[in-house]
Amino acid sequence: MTQTASDDGLDPLRAEIAACRICRDAPLRGVENRLPHEPRPVAVISTKARILIAGQAPGLRVHESGLPFDDASGDRLRQWLQVDRPTFYDRDRFTIVPMGFCFPGYDAKGSDLPPRRECAPAWRQRTLAAMPQIELVLAVGGYAQAWHMKDIRRENMTETVRAWRDSLSMPGGPAVLPLPHPSWRNSGWIKRNMWFEEELLPELRARIKMLAF
Ligand code: SF4
Repeated sequence: MTQTASDDGLDPLRAEIAACRICRDAPLRGVENRLPHEPRPVAVISTKARILIAGQAPGLRVHESGLPFDDASGDRLRQWLQVDRPTFYDRDRFTIVPMGFCFPGYDAKGSDLPPRRECAPAWRQRTLAAMPQIELVLAVGGYAQAWHMKDIRRENMTETVRAWRDSLSMPGGPAVLPLPHPSWRNSGWIKRNMWFEEELLPELRARIKMLAF
């Protein structure tokens, strides 16, 4: 995402991320596993927003637009949060830092590959350290949950999200709220797990109102 210059001290980090070519020039598992296209890191960082959206990785559409969650998944996520697009893309309200900043390409079946393994070790600690004001992390999907909830993650995504009350009260860091990925692929999951819309979403919306407005 193209971000305008600012005086928040993060522009050097933004520029470093924007210039990153690790997955193209020095991929972890050899050149045959290099990113199959030019990197286009998509991340929104801020010293003001108190909510971090930790997603998975950009899809092709986001890779092309440079705007995170600029797709049907983003529409559903905004509906969960009850925020409109201008609010969602206001970096004073939300930071958006996926587990992999670049579109990873497709697997043999045409599904998006997982986030690049190179990205979190290269950037995540540093990016989070630059945003100590974060009070709530939305861990969207299993990859973000594995990173942000490593000590309390349950046996699978369903059980991790079902135990959302535990992660909200973790000591020693921002509150973490696990969410399923808002992809249409999870529509069946949402229908089967009615507690998600009935119990978790009201709590999520209350916290968004408190921290983003
Ligand atoms: S996915 Fe992350 S580590 Fe890989 S090129 Fe993009 S920004 Fe760099």
